[in-house]
Amino acid sequence: MEEYTVVKVIGEGSFGRALLVRPLHSHDQLVLKEIRLPKSGHRAAASRREAVLLSSMNHPNIVAFRDSFEADGHLYIVMEYCTGGDLLQRIKRQKNTPFTKDVILNWFGQMCLGTKYIHDQRVLHRDLKSKNIFLTSNATIKLGDFGSACVLKSSEACAFSYVGTPYYVSPEIWDNKAYNNKSDVWSLGCVLYELCTLRHPFQAASWKSLILKVCRGAYPPLPNHLPYELHHLIKHMFKTNPRDRPSLSTILTSHRISQLLQKNL
Ligand code: ADP
Ligand code: MG
Repeated sequence: MEEYTVVKVIGEGSFGRALLVRPLHSHDQLVLKEIRLPKSGHRAAASRREAVLLSSMNHPNIVAFRDSFEADGHLYIVMEYCTGGDLLQRIKRQKNTPFTKDVILNWFGQMCLGTKYIHDQRVLHRDLKSKNIFLTSNATIKLGDFGSACVLKSSEACAFSYVGTPYYVSPEIWDNKAYNNKSDVWSLGCVLYELCTLRHPFQAASWKSLILKVCRGAYPPLPNHLPYELHHLIKHMFKTNPRDRPSLSTILTSHRISQLLQKNL
């Protein structure tokens, strides 16, 4: 801790805080995520998994890990600072001005590359949402917050149940089924829809009606001016049966959208 000067707090959650810091004797800016370690050994091990998983990732579209250490009952994760902040803040800044098709395709393409890399490592993110996706100063997308991620063992799904942020949760999770790679695809579909409309695809005044909408896959149509390929892709990412949703490799290679994405990357 003494090695860093705190510049400001950039995020606060139930886990602890995310701080913008500067290492002593350097002008570098880094993020220090401070996580209170639970007393129980089992839950502390789960907290440490975030640092272990992030440290094993190495991809241009995943936030870069620098260091981790423990002190005074806290776990600290040091990582690169994404000066553009998170995508939710960026979306809010738009007010009602839509993003251009090229920006949507470029950012979404980068998210797909990052998520495909995670899935290829047999890791599921499980909390993909605009608040956990960061932007650098040169518009590079970085997936962050591996606090809910899990590693796939022998089976194709994570057995223990986990419910992420309600707006982004897929029908199978509400149905108490195991989380799988297609559940990440659903959440990514929610982020793509947000980029296209600046709104959540599934929104309601109560939990009950939110879950009902999600389980029916009922969302307001996309604006007409967007390319047909985006309409088609979103429709498939929101298939209620996870088997009918495309995987990340399908989206990036064989789906109609892949050519558009490659062109905009
Ligand atoms: P939590 O587990 O509380 O969701 P996050 O890792 O998502 O913690 O960090 C909380 C917030 O802090 C993010 O939503 C984002 O606004 C900001 N943040 C975290 N890490 C970074 C980073 N590397 N670069 C820029 N902003 C970040
Ligand atoms: Mg987060």
